[in-house]
Amino acid sequence: MRYLVTGGAGFIGSHLAEALLEREDEVVVIDDLSTGSMKNIEHLKGRAGFRYHIDTIFNKPLLAELVDDSDCVIHLAAAVGVKLIVESPVRTIVLNVEGTSLVLDCAVKKRKKVLLASTSEVYGKSERFPFKESGDLVIGPPNKGRWSYACSKALDEFLALAYHKEKGLPVVIARLFNTVGPRQTGQYGMVAPNFVKQALHGQPITVFGSGRQTRCFVHVRDVVKALVGLSREPKAVGRIFNLGSTQEVSILELARLVKRRTGSSSEIRRVPYDEAYEEGFEDMPRRVPDISRARRLVGFRPTMTIRDIIDDVIGHFRTDPA
Ligand code: UDP
Repeated sequence: MRYLVTGGAGFIGSHLAEALLEREDEVVVIDDLSTGSMKNIEHLKGRAGFRYHIDTIFNKPLLAELVDDSDCVIHLAAAVGVKLIVESPVRTIVLNVEGTSLVLDCAVKKRKKVLLASTSEVYGKSERFPFKESGDLVIGPPNKGRWSYACSKALDEFLALAYHKEKGLPVVIARLFNTVGPRQTGQYGMVAPNFVKQALHGQPITVFGSGRQTRCFVHVRDVVKALVGLSREPKAVGRIFNLGSTQEVSILELARLVKRRTGSSSEIRRVPYDEAYEEGFEDMPRRVPDISRARRLVGFRPTMTIRDIIDDVIGHFRTDPA
């Protein structure tokens, strides 16, 4: 199959491109390098079946041509990271909403399948654990920057499903939960690369809030395998799938684990949310997915423990300290 991967030079996109090439699929990447990096796809250059365009998805003639030439679009191009979102809400909303709208509009002309990467963030403040795809989305008020991300991705989901219902476009939605692995940068605020970099540099490991909040971290390789499976499974069309781990860990435990596994002497320092993000910042105390739907349909089962995942991230930063 020929895939178009938007945001293919990003952390998840580059792993996805790699996995598709391993399967001998053809891969075309479009990425404007706003948060992605050439370094992520350097090793794929020259591989049979791989092409890339450093351009924005807002270049509609190019996007239309690339969509036409593909069998399936995996749409990953989006604003990433809570820090970036809080700092640049306009960019977040425009990129997420208008970008997805463009991709769907190009895809509908020749009914190309679109797999939309969405996020666990859409569950917002829901307390119905574990989160099921059919559950309510509980999003906070518009004056708090963080919710623009959840809201814009939720709108993307509505739009994708509307294209499916009204125009027969084959769409699949994957809600990604805290995905971690090599090539994820700490630059946009994600906790795992941040902690590992801080520990390796002997800097304080910054735990925001009490540190009692929990997340379930999944390795990018497990997520990518499921994305490939969902993109090829006809029964996935028109549906939403949670992709994540169910192994819950508190952020304080994560900090201690990183400290132990790096052998770092860094102190673990608590930082109030107001200082870390912005005044009145709202964090989710828990976030746990129900992954039975993806398990039943494509056999999704995370294989790596939090220790394996952290060791892999440590290995990455040790060989590539940038
Ligand atoms: N966090 C932290 N220190 C950091 C970065 C993040 O304590 O340096 C916390 C953050 O407040 C949240 C959790 O780690 O509770 C996960 O944050 P991340 O941005 O990785 O993902 P989120 O789950 O918020 O989308």
